[in-house]
Amino acid sequence: AVETLGSITAVCTDKTGTLTTNQMTVQKLFLAGRIVDVSGVGFQPKGDFELDGVPLKASEDKSLSMFLKIASLCNDASLKSHKEEEDRWEILGDPTEGALLVAAAKAGLDKSELEESHPRVDEIPFDPKNRYMSTFHRTGSAELLALLKGAPETILDMCSYVLDRGEVKELDQKRKEEFLKASSQMAAEALRVLALAYVTIKPEEGDEFKNKGPANLIFTGFSGMIDPPRPEAIRSVHLCKRAGIKVTMATGDHKITAQAIARDIGIYEEGSKVLTGSDLDDLSDEELDGLIQDTSVFARVSPKHKHRIVQSLQRKGHIVAMTGDGVNDAPALKAAEIGIAMGITGTDVTKETADMILTDDNFQSIVNAVEEGRVIFENIRKTVKYLISTNAGEILTILVALVFMAINVLIFTPVQILWVNLVTDGLLVVNLAMEPKEEDVMDQPPRNPKENIINMDIVKNVLFVAAFMAAGTLLVFTRELNGGDIHRAQTLGFTTLAMFQIFNALNCRSEDKSVFKIGLFSNKYLIGAIVASIALQLMATTLPFFQMALGTVALSLYDWAIIFAVSSTVFIADELRKLIKGKSLIRI
Ligand code: ADP
Ligand code: MG
Repeated sequence: AVETLGSITAVCTDKTGTLTTNQMTVQKLFLAGRIVDVSGVGFQPKGDFELDGVPLKASEDKSLSMFLKIASLCNDASLKSHKEEEDRWEILGDPTEGALLVAAAKAGLDKSELEESHPRVDEIPFDPKNRYMSTFHRTGSAELLALLKGAPETILDMCSYVLDRGEVKELDQKRKEEFLKASSQMAAEALRVLALAYVTIKPEEGDEFKNKGPANLIFTGFSGMIDPPRPEAIRSVHLCKRAGIKVTMATGDHKITAQAIARDIGIYEEGSKVLTGSDLDDLSDEELDGLIQDTSVFARVSPKHKHRIVQSLQRKGHIVAMTGDGVNDAPALKAAEIGIAMGITGTDVTKETADMILTDDNFQSIVNAVEEGRVIFENIRKTVKYLISTNAGEILTILVALVFMAINVLIFTPVQILWVNLVTDGLLVVNLAMEPKEEDVMDQPPRNPKENIINMDIVKNVLFVAAFMAAGTLLVFTRELNGGDIHRAQTLGFTTLAMFQIFNALNCRSEDKSVFKIGLFSNKYLIGAIVASIALQLMATTLPFFQMALGTVALSLYDWAIIFAVSSTVFIADELRKLIKGKSLIRI
């Protein structure tokens, strides 16, 4: 999953809670033509209702009191004050519903008290496909009170009456359209709009109501709640754009609300498209493929639409990360290369299906994970490059010595080869994997997913390093062997090879940036490993025990100077290569 994350080219994300804070607050009510402002902040049930600047009391306005009653009773959340701090209030359940409870509490309506006088006897639970929920309550009379809340167009569709200043009146098509327009205006202010309605039914009508769907409802009003964008989401979206990753929002919310928030966050730009679930239903797969690249927002979508969006993005060659929380999102998460479940609001089914769980539900964490994925992939590539190139260097050295130079002595003892492979090599490569991120990881376009870990750059580097290592080591070895002592020659060759590895490790820290640019000491672990390698090599050549085991002799300072001069050539050459490559790159 981490490897794939580093290569994603498109993220399709939820809005509510992921891009926004989910700290919903009801700011405005629309009571069949009258606009009521609600004051107060957060979940604290303190605030007032005002109509054109004049305070409005729920006890004096039948529409407002009915509205708040529905808000409170047709609701599965609960509002609690913090145990120690009386002033801190908490919501248990869906923040959308919590915000409505808070609004009702501002007028002194308490959910548990209301539930005693209006016990809930049945319900139609909220389903993102239907976009509404309903609860049935017993009142004093023989009839049941059915309360509903849901998306404005859905609820209005089921209404035939309106509660207008406390009186129930017929609701004609013209007035419905006026109300819908008012809800669009609220949505354009980035408010999340819910419609509330009710109807009284006979107990025996309950089943019909549930099976055929509610009808002949009495429209009561809209609530408009703000859900501010997360400031870090704005930065993260910007970062995605720099990193060549397409960000798309897919939400169940209203088109205009979704677009307003997407604009605030930077996902929607002038000229990009906003499609709704019903637009999607009218489009064939081919038509969708033609539009998807330019579409930044999908609104009023249901989980099955999300699945189509993922597939269309994939047909356009994208590697897709998709978020989801509901049970029905599972197929879309499964289809995406990276399925991301919400840790807080997500259901167990989505968490089971997902490749990654966002424990904080925050969009920024997705982008951080992408960055981490890129860094991890790069570090794997760096260590692979290092391992192959040094090992190729060792093999080439031995091969050339054996086959072409017809030297009748071994250039290294077997124990020396083991030492170089396990001790110096092992120490360096483990710490090379700790390489910190290069500052421009998120300025690069996504990596081509078809590309292998071992690419042409690595192959070229392997040949380059192997040539230097073999030539340098053989030079030092044969220079000493001519008339000299075989043990000294072997020790010199062996130490040269070990030092070559240190310089090669420095080379492998970045493909195209000078070690001095990324900071010679920025990977503390590697510096530690280099110091330890040199110390171990000194031990291996000076301590009698190691001299015996490895067949080494002590080297002079002059020997070390030669070794250093020869083995650093690979470093100098690669730094020169990076310099030339950097110069020819046009940086924007
Ligand atoms: P999202 O959370 O992405 O906005 P959902 O699929 O959860 O989308 O919700 C879709 C729509 O259903 C919302 O825009 C809203 O109109 C309505 N809705 C959401 N939650 C509730 C709820 N608890 N009760 C009634 N209606 C709701
Ligand atoms: Mg939701």
